Amino acid sequence: MTDQQESVREIRINPIVPTESVLVSTARGMRPRKDEEPAPRDSRKHVDRCPFCTGNEHMTPPTVSSSPSEEKWSVRVVENLYPVLGDDSQSSNLVFGLQQAIDGYGRHEVIIDHPEHGIAIQDMSEDHLFRLTGVYRDRIRALYRADERIQYVLVFKNFGPAAGASIAHTHSQVIAMPVVPENVYNEVTHSRKYFEKNRQCIFCSLIDEALTFEATIYDRESGAVRRQFNVGQYVIERGEHFVAIKPFASRYEWEIHILPLRHRSDFVDISDDERHDLARVLKHSMTRLDAVIGGAQYNFFLHSIPHNNEFSHCNDSYHWHLEICPRTSIPTGFELGSGLFVSTISPEQAAEQLRAVELE
Ligand SMILES: [Zn+2]
Ligand SMILES: [Zn+2]
Ligand SMILES: [Zn+2]
Repeated sequence: MTDQQESVREIRINPIVPTESVLVSTARGMRPRKDEEPAPRDSRKHVDRCPFCTGNEHMTPPTVSSSPSEEKWSVRVVENLYPVLGDDSQSSNLVFGLQQAIDGYGRHEVIIDHPEHGIAIQDMSEDHLFRLTGVYRDRIRALYRADERIQYVLVFKNFGPAAGASIAHTHSQVIAMPVVPENVYNEVTHSRKYFEKNRQCIFCSLIDEALTFEATIYDRESGAVRRQFNVGQYVIERGEHFVAIKPFASRYEWEIHILPLRHRSDFVDISDDERHDLARVLKHSMTRLDAVIGGAQYNFFLHSIPHNNEFSHCNDSYHWHLEICPRTSIPTGFELGSGLFVSTISPEQAAEQLRAVELE
């Protein structure tokens, strides 16, 4: 028996980025709370006025690429109509005292994930997800190659209004940036420090721990069992090449990370064999999430080694991963003001519930 039914209140430090922490306070989750109705899922297959639906290709900005072909596409990439970063900026980097500005150079593309309007990731076939992740890889590669000023290419997805999706039709986005985003920078530098001390990748260590860790913590006074860690307590899904885990210090209650089981720093080096397995692990993880929280609205994003010389020595210390962050609550003033995320379900309990979902 573990203490999983008891309430937990502790601050958990993110092992990879120790400046990030999470307050796990499950008693708070037991407060009577008026649950918001989840937004009704848009299950329509085709919407006449949707620019991303088939037949409406003329309504989008120019096509960047289509897969497998322009006429019969299953994944289509277009330029973003409202780019966050663009290549029209003339100014050079400005430095004035403590105020430093970097030219907002970059590229912003939209990946239309699927021709069907309201289809969710878990409903796409594994073959389709194999194709979609192939498009992610190709766009990342192409955008790094297109301009040497590009420091990072971020692939992400917003699904549902709570996750910031402004167009209902399922899509992902790619932003090529002139800077390495701070959270990727922190992950790369902190994991490097760990590597220099321990000669091992911290992500690999965390996977090893998630797969094999077993320990019991006893109360010093009474000798009673205070907490028991089980084998695979944080594992949600395991494939041949990938594992989906619930991070020990999860910022979001239902957050899941998918990582390659073998050490890999760069997503673009993924083999076809690995990509088939990724499609399966992603589909299964999203199916579990959807079964537990129903109509999941989420963001996911890829963190991979930046392609610039500054980090070329970090290939053995950084490990690429996909972070899936379901949006089940709106951050409060406390969370934004303190930077301390509050989780009202313990990651162990969340993992147990996700694992318990029976897949067909
Ligand atoms: Zn549509
Ligand atoms: Zn690793
Ligand atoms: Zn990350």
